[in-house]
Amino acid sequence: MRYVDEVLQKVIAQNPAQPEFHQAVQEVLSTLSPIIERNEELYRREALLERLTMPERIVTFRVPWVDDKGQVQVNTGYRVQWNGAIGPYKGGLRLHPSVNVGVMKFLAFEQTFKNSLTGLPMGGGKGGSDFDPKGKSDREIMAFCQSFMNELYKYIGADTDVPAGDIGVGAREVGYFFGQYRRLKTVYEGVFTGKGLSYGGSLARPQATGYGLLYMTKEMLKSNGVDIAGKTVVVSGAGNVATYAIEKAWQMGAKPVTCSDSTGWIYDPDGIDVATLIQVKQVQRARLTEYAKARPNSQYHEGKGVWTVKCDIALPCATQNELLIDDAKALVANGCMAVCEGANMPTTMEATKYLQDNGVYFVPGKAANAGGVSVSGLEMSQNSERLSWSFEEVDSKLQDIMVNIFHNLDAAATEFGMPGNYVAGANIAGFKKVAEAMLAQGVI
Ligand code: NDP
Repeated sequence: MRYVDEVLQKVIAQNPAQPEFHQAVQEVLSTLSPIIERNEELYRREALLERLTMPERIVTFRVPWVDDKGQVQVNTGYRVQWNGAIGPYKGGLRLHPSVNVGVMKFLAFEQTFKNSLTGLPMGGGKGGSDFDPKGKSDREIMAFCQSFMNELYKYIGADTDVPAGDIGVGAREVGYFFGQYRRLKTVYEGVFTGKGLSYGGSLARPQATGYGLLYMTKEMLKSNGVDIAGKTVVVSGAGNVATYAIEKAWQMGAKPVTCSDSTGWIYDPDGIDVATLIQVKQVQRARLTEYAKARPNSQYHEGKGVWTVKCDIALPCATQNELLIDDAKALVANGCMAVCEGANMPTTMEATKYLQDNGVYFVPGKAANAGGVSVSGLEMSQNSERLSWSFEEVDSKLQDIMVNIFHNLDAAATEFGMPGNYVAGANIAGFKKVAEAMLAQGVI
């Protein structure tokens, strides 16, 4: 049996009931065969894939907090430190009821390759809790964040593990986490990224994932002889990634016409208005029905549906497994030419294969959404220097990083005989550096 298949079987057997984790490992291993086969004896002897598919450690902890009625609530907290071979662990914290250990492991595993692709010295990690921030008061959010940090602070640090935001964790939550860390450790250090500008944050960090997604999309299309200007774009999500993807799509001359949240979606024939979207989702923290009220030409629909809208480019920016096989079929039938993932693993493997088989350019999240962690890496550099760079400086570095990532993965796909397969290219390019560092550091 091939080494990659053997390891996949072990992963599935040893990690029961973790379907998202199995899916992430399968997606990566299924494309690594060409590079593994070149060095199979060495990798087997070193148990390289067994080590790469197992976290260095997982911390699981209790998070008790008191709600506004005086009732004690209890959630589960996690931090997965997947692989620190190329730098301190780095990856966001997610607060969402769907969080469990399998979801945390899939995200930390993916993050390891993503961080490697950026070219910056960052290992892979991820964390979060099944806490649901929806409908909670500011005081309840703070109580949760402080209790979470009362445990997490023991395991993180500017040179050890540097968390950031993810679903349900924006500027407000990062502020509460950082404040409690500083209080507990009596040290002022760049232990978090995505911080506010008044306490060590980087300009362009809020925009970085969405902007980076569009820089990557534009470069990928350009290398295939297509201009992004004038293209119709459908976007899912209405959070951090979706909002700034929509903003940058406009700036590039494309027209974003949809967005969605966990209850419904908007089609706006005039194009999504960014200011209204920010007002509804970031200021009012309301549902998208409020967007439709403010923009009478737009249509609000309950449930899922953005992938049924005719488009040239689709950008899934909400959550994992939100683009299924029927969605892929609808996109292809409507003439969509490119799918670039803003979220982590939003497209199922079956849907990805269908898109690729039907000639749709497909860039996976670990490359296309790497702009966020890249600017987080730049935030760490600014904190170490105790300097702040201008928006333009950070944005221009972000563009260079995204363009470089694309050319690296494009070259890797071609070198290993799969030209145009950006999934394989991203996995191989990300794997190479981590594998080399792990082998150099011995059996650890
Ligand atoms: P946000 O919490 O800001 O926004 C998430 C959006 O997706 C919200 O509109 C939310 O709806 C919707 N959503 C979340 N879960 C579901 C679900 N189960 N079903 C339907 N809709 C859902 O998160 P981000 O924008 O930060 O993250 C989005 C994705 O991008 C995630 O996969 C994340 O891991 C990934 N990512 C984020 C990065 C970052 O820098 N923030 C970096 C790289 C990747 P509602 O408004 O109703 O909650």
